[in-house]
Amino acid sequence: GADVVRVTVTPMTLIRPDLDSLPAYVPGRALPGALKLASNEVALAPPASVLAAIAEAAAGGNRYPDLGAVALTERLATELHVAPENIAVGCGSVSLCQQLVQISCRETTDEVVYAWRSFEAYPIVTQIGNARSVTVPLDGDFRHDLDAMAAAVTPHTRLVFVCSPNNPTGTVVHRAEFERFLDAVGPDVLVVLDEAYHEYVTDPEAVDGLPLLRRHPNLVVLRTFSKAYRLAGLRVGYAITAPEIATALRKVCAPFSVSSVAQAAAMAALDAAGELLAACKEAVAERVRVREALLEAGYTVPQTQANFVWVALGERTADFAAHCLADRNVIVRPFHPDGVRVTVTTAEEDDRFLAAARSFSG
Ligand code: PMP
Repeated sequence: GADVVRVTVTPMTLIRPDLDSLPAYVPGRALPGALKLASNEVALAPPASVLAAIAEAAAGGNRYPDLGAVALTERLATELHVAPENIAVGCGSVSLCQQLVQISCRETTDEVVYAWRSFEAYPIVTQIGNARSVTVPLDGDFRHDLDAMAAAVTPHTRLVFVCSPNNPTGTVVHRAEFERFLDAVGPDVLVVLDEAYHEYVTDPEAVDGLPLLRRHPNLVVLRTFSKAYRLAGLRVGYAITAPEIATALRKVCAPFSVSSVAQAAAMAALDAAGELLAACKEAVAERVRVREALLEAGYTVPQTQANFVWVALGERTADFAAHCLADRNVIVRPFHPDGVRVTVTTAEEDDRFLAAARSFSG
């Protein structure tokens, strides 16, 4: 309209110039009528008991939330058999990733090591934290190359992100190799084990960070309510770690960033854990079926322990994603120029994707 005031500034003086080169987090698109398999969400709504807790907390929305998320923290501590001091709740585990860079990196020469390809937030939070990314390619099986990652650690390294199951390839780090890795890295670097998809893991050899915390006080385990607990829209994640690290994470967290509604929802979701975790079984079964169907159709798909599959497509990535949308109105997540990540959900939804994959002739 005519009364819109346009203000322009000379950004060089007001804003860090390096933000021009900050990679954008590209969220999965949502289109009306389309089937969104792009963000590893659970297709089902939260259970009725969780919705009731959300409504009740919303009724008190005129009040600020509990700053320390005390009740949720204590509840998590009981569930996980750790002390409340060992837990820091955050506005999604992606926020905790950012806080981890903030608490560890101090010089612009400080380095953050992670595998690539892995979670797309790692390069973003590293750059926001004024640190340097050191990426280590996944191995030929789309798995973390932990020997190469340990070798990439230098006196400048402050933080290492290890993602298991790895987003977007679904592969897991094994317990034995992770313990070797922790010993190789030593106690002077923060090692973050990002277990966003922990609840989907069935491989008995896969690492579980929790039992390793006692021997490795530099370890931080990250988990989230966004996946199996169906609360992606409410933004709650948590770190399990040494009390000193948890305290530092709380210090750099923007005050009140975990809303009262989110805290109440997370606690109600823990109450409903039996139902929520049982519902993961379908995706666990489906990921095997979907992978086998894709292998049969000639695609390269690593074994996955998450609620998604990785289709390695190289230069065909964009064409494949466009085909899925055009052919069956299915939205998958392209990561140019490596492949697409596709959420695995119900047999019906997965079949719609498989039909598109089978009819792709790129
Ligand atoms: N880590 C990994 C590996 C993820 O895939 C995600 C979600 N895409 C997150 C962390 C962040 O999850 P949230 O912020 O929703 O807790």
